[in-house]
This record gives sequence, structure tokens and C-alpha cells, in this order.
Amino acid sequence: MLQPVIHYGLHFIAPLGLSFLFFRENLWKAYAVMLASMIVDADHLLASPVFDPGRCSIGYHPLHTLYAIGAYLLLLIFWKKKYSRMLMTGLLFHMATDMTDCLLMFQDCSACSEAFIKHLF
Ligand SMILES: [Zn+2]
Repeated sequence: MLQPVIHYGLHFIAPLGLSFLFFRENLWKAYAVMLASMIVDADHLLASPVFDPGRCSIGYHPLHTLYAIGAYLLLLIFWKKKYSRMLMTGLLFHMATDMTDCLLMFQDCSACSEAFIKHLF
């Protein structure tokens, strides 16, 4: 019960806080861009089944791999356009949220956590 509240709170409420912290002069634009970054979940459409509540997104879906996350980080650092920074901040926070979800999912299963970490690297 708590996991979906944390998940959707982090996806919808935390970006407003991030917008306030980092893009205060463009607060609502930054919030809109960060919410729009959730389109990254379109990569779930490539999976079968499309939605599986027991599946961890990180390392499974193409735009949720460590390579993709590394690209978002590099783009955040080196692509110094205002909107790209908002987008990359949104994407990286999205990945942090999904990772939190995975850790909550595996918290009672150390073998699952180990398998997840091995799968990532
Ligand atoms: Zn996601």
C-alpha cells in the first residue's frame, strides 16, 4: 500500500520540489517538462506483458538501462540548454524513483536484491 504512494508521490510531487530548487525562475515550465519526461515509460510498450507489478524497470526496459541513465547524466552535464537540463533532471529523478521502487520490491528478499544487482552490471 505504501509503495504506490511513494512511487506516485515521487513521480508527481517531487518534480515540483526539484523545479523550485533548480529552476525557480521557470518553475511551472520545469515542472511541465519533468512531468513530460515520464514519456520515457513508453519503452514499457516493448515488454510483454506491458505492465508487470513484480518487475523492476531499471535494467529491464531499454530507456531504463544503466547505459541510458549514463547518457542522461552526460547530457545533463554537457548539454547546457535550459530545457534539456530540465528534461535530464526529470529523467534522472524518474530513474531514481523507479530504483526506489525496485529496492522496496526486493527489501524482504536478499536473493532477489543480489540477482537484481548482478543483472544490472
Ligand atoms: Zn520508469
